[in-house]
Amino acid sequence: MASKRWPRINFDKSKYKSIDDIFNEVQDVKKFGRQLGLEFGNAFSKMSFSRERMYCWIYASFKDELSSPLPSGDPCEFFGTDSKTAIKKARELKKQGHDVHFRKESIVPNEDCPVSPELLESHQFIRIEDMLHEGFHLYHEKKGMCLPYNLEESLASYVGLKGAQEYLLKINGELTTYERNQLRNWIKFSNYIGRFYGILESFYKENKDISKRDEIFKWAKREDPGLYESQKIINNAYFLRQIDYTRHFKLVHDMLEKVGLSNYLSSPSKTNKELLSKVEA
Ligand SMILES: [Zn+2]
Repeated sequence: MASKRWPRINFDKSKYKSIDDIFNEVQDVKKFGRQLGLEFGNAFSKMSFSRERMYCWIYASFKDELSSPLPSGDPCEFFGTDSKTAIKKARELKKQGHDVHFRKESIVPNEDCPVSPELLESHQFIRIEDMLHEGFHLYHEKKGMCLPYNLEESLASYVGLKGAQEYLLKINGELTTYERNQLRNWIKFSNYIGRFYGILESFYKENKDISKRDEIFKWAKREDPGLYESQKIINNAYFLRQIDYTRHFKLVHDMLEKVGLSNYLSSPSKTNKELLSKVEA
C-alpha cells in the first residue's frame, strides 16, 4: 500500500489523460531542449512523490537600503529542501530588523533534480518554461561561460519563455493568446521592477525617515501588473530578488530576437561579448 503515502496530484485533466502523459511530455521537453543545445544531465528523469522536496531560498535586505545583510553579500541563501532551517533563518533575520522574502520552487538547476508533484501540477507553459530555464543554467555552467549573475538570469528567463513558445508551437501548430503574450508580459514586469527599484533607491538616498517607505510599497502593489509571482508582501528583499531577473531582460530579449534562439545557443560567444559590452557600458 505504498501508494497511500503518495500525495494526490491535481493535474490538468482537460489537457492530460494521466500523470504518465505529463511525465512523457517532460521527457519530450528535455529532448527538445537538448536539440537546442541545452543541458539537463539526469535532471527530470525520475519521479519524486514527496512534497518535502520543495527547494527554499531566503532573500534579505536592510530596511533603509537595497542591499543584503547576509555575510556572503549575496541577496539570498539557499537551503535546499530544508524548509525548517530556512524558516528559522527567516525569523532570525526579521528579528534583526531586516526585510525578508521567502522563495519556494519545485526545481533547481541540478543534474539530479527529480520530477516533483508540484512540477506535474504546474501550468503547462510554466512547467516547460521552468525546465528550459534550468537547462540554460546547466548549459551556462558546462560551457564555462561565467557571465555576471544578473545577465545569466535574464538569459535563462528569455530561453525559458522563448523556448516554451517554440516547443508549444511545434506540438500544437499555434499558440494561445496567453502563450503568445508571455515575452511581452515579462518585459512589462521587468519595466515595473526596474521603475520601483529606481524609486526606492532614490528614496533611501534622500530620506532618513524610512517609515514613509510603506507608501511606496502600497503604490508598487497597486501598480503590480500581476503577471508573475505577485507577492502578498512587497519589500526590499522582494525587489532584490526580482532585479537580477529583470535588469537586463529587455536588452537580452531584443538581441536574441534578432539572433534567434537556436543560433544563439549553438554559438553564443559573439552575442555574449556584445551583451557584456552593453551591460558594462
Ligand atoms: Zn535562474
